[in-house]
Amino acid sequence: MDHIPPGGTIGILGGGQLGRMTALAAANLGYKTVIFSDSENSPAAQVAARTIVASYHDTDALQDFMQAADVISYEFENIPIYSAEFIGKFGRLAPSASVLDISQDRFKEKSFFQNNDLATAGFALIESSSDVESACQQVGLPCVMKTTRLGYDGKGQRMVNSLDEAKVAYDDLGQGTVIVEQFIHFDTEISVIVARSRDGQSVNYPPVHNIHENHILKKTIAPADLDAAVHDQAVEMAIKLTERLDVCGLLAVEMFVTKDNGVLINEMAPRPHNSGHWTMDGCVTSQFEQFVRAICGLPLGSVDLVAPTEMENLLGDEINTWSDILKEKNAHFHHYGKTEARPGRKMGHVNRVKL
Ligand code: AMP
Repeated sequence: MDHIPPGGTIGILGGGQLGRMTALAAANLGYKTVIFSDSENSPAAQVAARTIVASYHDTDALQDFMQAADVISYEFENIPIYSAEFIGKFGRLAPSASVLDISQDRFKEKSFFQNNDLATAGFALIESSSDVESACQQVGLPCVMKTTRLGYDGKGQRMVNSLDEAKVAYDDLGQGTVIVEQFIHFDTEISVIVARSRDGQSVNYPPVHNIHENHILKKTIAPADLDAAVHDQAVEMAIKLTERLDVCGLLAVEMFVTKDNGVLINEMAPRPHNSGHWTMDGCVTSQFEQFVRAICGLPLGSVDLVAPTEMENLLGDEINTWSDILKEKNAHFHHYGKTEARPGRKMGHVNRVKL
């Protein structure tokens, strides 16, 4: 596939804030965006040239989408793999359907880390209630039980301290396929975002420190204050993973730094990531522009810092503090255009640039 010059059209599966901010960055570079979403008036649709509203299973609508776009990507992972493969057959999906397939399933994802000698918390698969005891024994207690699919922001996840709790957690999570993971007494949570172009060139943003509240990302502090060895280890692991997956686009890699300065990969996302929002104002090239550059085959941009930056997510009603934020010096406010401020919902964010 040749590079796609400005003037081309980027197709994005998913209509959330990540698609919205990608469409805005794409427009700055002279691209049009067509969004494919299963809901009306999505955050991305408000700023895109065109939106196709249809089910992600609707192959006629997907065909129409493919005709409209020069390259297609996705801004969330829960797209039916059949649909991604359908688009992938025509060679215009980046990252590929196989990367999406691995990232949709925690067991596949963790197995991929393990098979590539990338350190991750010990884990075991549970496919029925008869596996619960042996899996817990294998990883040890306490452990964390997680659904293999569709979990996000702590949903589909239970802390387990005893075998009895494990049985209750397995019932609570619907008795399907889950994993149990060794509980990690981590020191900090960090992430590294790598951008990789079609010809295999890659750049990485510096590791950042992520602070969660109620399992939802609340703040990102960029760059993370890390020992040089931990920094280098995290970057090396993120780049290795990106290369082994042969990603074209972005890969966000979330990691735990343990109390003895070990680095373990927790999970990955082959798309722009909430922990990269600070780059919109704190870096020479934002993650969204970088994403567009990578999938369109353009040269990657500089990942140099403009200044250390703190990103704060505005959840639910916190979006109503916008007028105070606008009065702050060196604060950049980003609103996602969502009308209903449900508790915990990501409504916008603020980047405080420490100039
Ligand atoms: P996840 O959905 O895997 O990103 O998990 C959400 C959050 O739960 C993480 O950001 C951690 O704060 C916590 N967590 C997940 N897995 C573990 C683990 N194995 N040990 C300790 N904490 C965890």
